[in-house]
Amino acid sequence: MTINIFFMLIIHFIEKFYYLLTSLLSEKKCIICGKSHSDLCFVCQNKIFERVKINFFCRRCGRPLTDDFKICINCLNRPIFFELKAARSLTVYGKNQQTFIYHWKFNKKRMLGITAAFKLYDVYKKLYKSIPVVPVPPRKKTNKIEEMNYDCVKDIAFIFRFCFNVKIIEPLIRIDSEEQKYKSFANRIDKSKKRYALKKNHQINSRSVVILDDIMTTGATLEECALLLTSAGVENVYAITLFCD
Ligand SMILES: [Zn+2]
Repeated sequence: MTINIFFMLIIHFIEKFYYLLTSLLSEKKCIICGKSHSDLCFVCQNKIFERVKINFFCRRCGRPLTDDFKICINCLNRPIFFELKAARSLTVYGKNQQTFIYHWKFNKKRMLGITAAFKLYDVYKKLYKSIPVVPVPPRKKTNKIEEMNYDCVKDIAFIFRFCFNVKIIEPLIRIDSEEQKYKSFANRIDKSKKRYALKKNHQINSRSVVILDDIMTTGATLEECALLLTSAGVENVYAITLFCD
């Protein structure tokens, strides 16, 4: 346990040091406010990851509600979560969150992932502590440039394991290479069976797991993964994501 705290401190230190160093050495600007000399100033960090300050959340998808309806309109009219018990996100996917994702995923600002992982761990700790985490696998790399790229969800999983001793299991593989976000809702559902699969001979020795992803849009990805996991014998499948759209 102490060794994990040690690693946590190191990672935390690296992050702070990185921000300090970049603020001293470079002409970096905060990706949100453009003022500070670091990639993401502390004020904007809070702006991006601040949990929505209302008390009601949909019991299924975790989207914020204005009143205690228990289930949101989406989950009521077009339910998508059958195998997934519940999903929770840090906050909703607004303009600042979009900017954050763009820089983190596509603009080589990989260090932003550390901040994201620490913030998301707070939610994990509160809701699902000690339940093993299953990261959603990335789509297959289709060219050289993509092969050099890092995978954001994998980065978060790494920090979870490295700093907080969270058990990470990887029973899933991605079997297509299409970009999910360009598909329509109907398309996503229709083709869902072909996007992920269970690894052969992978044993999941846990009654509960938490799926980890960056953004929940329709929830189709989470549900598809949940279906595979329950078919492998898992009883309770939950999910956490950074943002919900
Ligand atoms: Zn809902």
